[in-house]
Amino acid sequence: MAHISSLCVYCGSSNTVPTAHKDAAARLGHALAKAGISLVYGGGRVGLMGLMADAALAAGGRVVGVIPRYLVEAEVGHGSVSELHIVSSMHERKQKMFELSDAFAILPGGLGTLDEMFEMLTWRQLRLHDKPIIVVDEDGYWAPLLTLIAAIEADGYAKGIKGRLLDVVDGVDALLPALARAREPVLPAATRKL
Ligand code: AMP
Repeated sequence: MAHISSLCVYCGSSNTVPTAHKDAAARLGHALAKAGISLVYGGGRVGLMGLMADAALAAGGRVVGVIPRYLVEAEVGHGSVSELHIVSSMHERKQKMFELSDAFAILPGGLGTLDEMFEMLTWRQLRLHDKPIIVVDEDGYWAPLLTLIAAIEADGYAKGIKGRLLDVVDGVDALLPALARAREPVLPAATRKL
């Protein structure tokens, strides 16, 4: 995993979600800290985001939060992260999280999580970057998304989404091994347009 020293994790900000998802988020935070991988995330204290950040910090990990100023209250900006970037817009947040990260993981989440994931996928499809993107299908949560992706490919709207643009693992425990197998980005620096 030499090329992955920071992982951006997108996940839900809701607290009223299955316990299995909460446990998985905390396990991932812990595992990242133990692996010496910095966690880049949305900077809040709520939902899976907060549980994951707390677990990483408790295990001595480095946690970098990126949050727009107007969300600091709504998502209860995490006061104890290693580094907190307060930015001025959602767009700036996505850009900053992208810049700070070597790879992306998608845990269960809602519309915001989907938005963030699709932006990273479409940027990769446009060859604006080539950083690994891994969907963590914890508890089968993303099965409907994977069905939709198969349908998009079957009708010819995109090719090779799975395998070329994203990889899927069946739970957080499979994530770090998958990152270790991930190939290095192949775009030369000059073509990294973002
Ligand atoms: P959710 O999955 O809806 O709970 O949201 C997860 C995270 O995504 C939260 O930190 C939201 O603030 C964030 N989010 C929601 N919409 C957007 C967006 N359009 N761009 C970037 N982040 C977003």
